[in-house]
Order: sequence, then structure tokens, then C-alpha cells
Amino acid sequence: MNVVDYWAESHTGLVRRANEDALLATPPLFVVADGMGGARAGETAARIAVETFADTTSDPDSPDSFVRATIELANRRIFERGATDIATAGMGTTVTVAFVAEDRVVLGHVGDSRAYRLRDGVLEQVTEDHSLVGELVRRGAITPREAEVHPQRSVITRALGTEQSVDVDTIVAETVADDVYLLCSDGLTGMVGDAQIGRILRAVPSLEVAARELVRAANAAGGEDNISVVLFRLGGGERAPAAARPAMVAAPPRRLILVDAAEPERRRSPLRRAVTVVAALAGAVALVLAGSAYLGWAHFVGATSQGQVAVYQGLPIDLVGGVRLYRAERVSPIPVRALTAAERARLFDHAILSAGDASARVRRLAASAYWR
Ligand code: MG
Repeated sequence: MNVVDYWAESHTGLVRRANEDALLATPPLFVVADGMGGARAGETAARIAVETFADTTSDPDSPDSFVRATIELANRRIFERGATDIATAGMGTTVTVAFVAEDRVVLGHVGDSRAYRLRDGVLEQVTEDHSLVGELVRRGAITPREAEVHPQRSVITRALGTEQSVDVDTIVAETVADDVYLLCSDGLTGMVGDAQIGRILRAVPSLEVAARELVRAANAAGGEDNISVVLFRLGGGERAPAAARPAMVAAPPRRLILVDAAEPERRRSPLRRAVTVVAALAGAVALVLAGSAYLGWAHFVGATSQGQVAVYQGLPIDLVGGVRLYRAERVSPIPVRALTAAERARLFDHAILSAGDASARVRRLAASAYWR
């Protein structure tokens, strides 16, 4: 079985200033990485992940160990870079990899980017999200629909490069002709539901058009994050000619980089402006309704996108266009990882507390994490 067709697109989206996703589409190997970290360090982490795959020779005889070992190597490289370069300290990235061997597709995965497979018109998510909301969905505490709009949906529980070693998921699937695989960052899945992704993939036979349509749909829904999409189709026919495709190594595509650097203002499309205006109006209304006194008093305990327990001031509400009714007031050094499953689940109660009660709750979490 071969890769008979493929396409990749990466787009900054309508809100972020830079694209911190990276991707690789060089059949039989496909990678999506979504970097995180301050001051564009996420870009470095995602690039190292993709470059590690680009410069490691694959082993067709043991594809499973190639995928796993290369993810572990990328983890070490990112971790070491973060440990020696203060500008990138604490950076990390997700990674989702697909390697097509003779008779199987090997997927490797860390974080909340995703792999999907479309088989006989049915779309199925193949990877599990390593995120707090993903854990809650698996435990039945919240529904997938609630997860899609959860204020802390971007908190991930596993990442590449944040620790010396990493726990890698690998999934081996048999190859079936006409299967289409989609690897994507959460800039797609945070904006576009599975039902719509499935509709687009079924309706559009061309992978190039489908990839563009997925990016367009994510931007139409607000484009709040960088969007990366890799599509490939299996078949018994001729191998897809790699040379016939534009360079798809360590995207974003050059065109987008140039636009970002030279014409930052033009990227603010009319849609983005409209979204901002709507969000600002909604924010104003919500503020009046909630009452500014209550907003000022209200606190809750949650987790930062870096995975640390924090006290937030305000209400746990996200409005359209990235407007939030809360801000981190004090970030504790307690990693969410150090909490028990029950304690993590309680982080999502988002019970509204006074500042004093919220701090007391964090102190209790610190004590229990310390004594364990
Ligand atoms: Mg993202």
C-alpha cells in the first residue's frame, strides 16, 4: 500500500501574530507539531520536533520503534535546548506523526494535536487527546461538546520537551485502500467540530481543496489559533510524486511568513475586525450583566496553559474572539501533573470563591502534592 495523494496547509489564523505550528509532509512520513512557550519559543520547539523527523533516517523494517525513538530523540533535543537557552526555557510542543509502512500505518502521538481516519465515509479520531478536558471526557465527567467550549481546553497533560523523558502513545493500524488520514493541530479542532470535518472530507474528493476548505472553516469560525492540516490517502496505485508538490517541510508556507513580516496590518481581515467588534460588544454586555463589583470579587482556581495551578480573578467565561472575563492573578509552582485525578477533576469545578478561599484551596493542593 502506498500514499497515492497528500496535501498540507498551515495558516496563522486570524488572532495570533505568529504561526507556532510546524509540519512535515514527505511521504511516507507526516508530522504535525504545535509549539507552546513564551516569546515565540513554541515556534522553536515545534521546529525541532519536525526537523528531528526530517533528518532521521526511517527504518521500514521496524516502523514502530522508528516513530517512538524519533519522538523520544526530539524530546531530548527540545528539553536540552530549553535547559541551556534561557529564551526558550519551558518551551514544549505537541507532536502527531504518521508513518506508512508496507502493511500498516504507525501513528505516534503526544499532546492534543490529533489524527483522524476517514474510512468508508466514517470519520474516526484515532489518537487520544492528552489534555485535561480529554481526561474528563474519558472519565465521563463532561461531554465532548462541553470539552469543545471549555475555558481550559488548551491545557495539555503531556508535551514534548518539558521533561527529560516523555510517555509516547503509538497506534498501529492496518492499511486499507482509500483510507484518508488527517493530522491537525487544535487550531482546526478547537474551531471546527468533527461532524463538519467529516462533511468536508466526504464532500471534497481533492485533498488539496479539502485541506484549504478545512483551514477556511477554522478561520470562518474565528481562527483563534494557528491551523495546521495534513491529509493523505492510501491506495494500491502509483506512489504520490513528492517532487510535484510544493515544499511542505517545516511549514508555515513561505508566502505566509512574508506576509507576516512585511504587511502585518493587512492580515487583519474584515472578518477578524467584525469578530473583534462582536466580541467587544458581547464583553460589554456581559460585564454589565455580571456587575463589575462581582467580577472584581470573584476568584476561581484553575490551570494555566503551561499546566500550573493558578488563582484566577474574574469569571471562568470565554467570549468570542479570545475575550476573557478572567485573568491569572497568582500562578503557583504546582504542576497539574502532580495532582491526583480527583484533584484535577475538581480544578474544573470553577467554583466561584473569594480571593482568600481560592488561595486556601491552592495551599491545600500544594500540601497534598508535597506530601505524596
Ligand atoms: Mg494550537
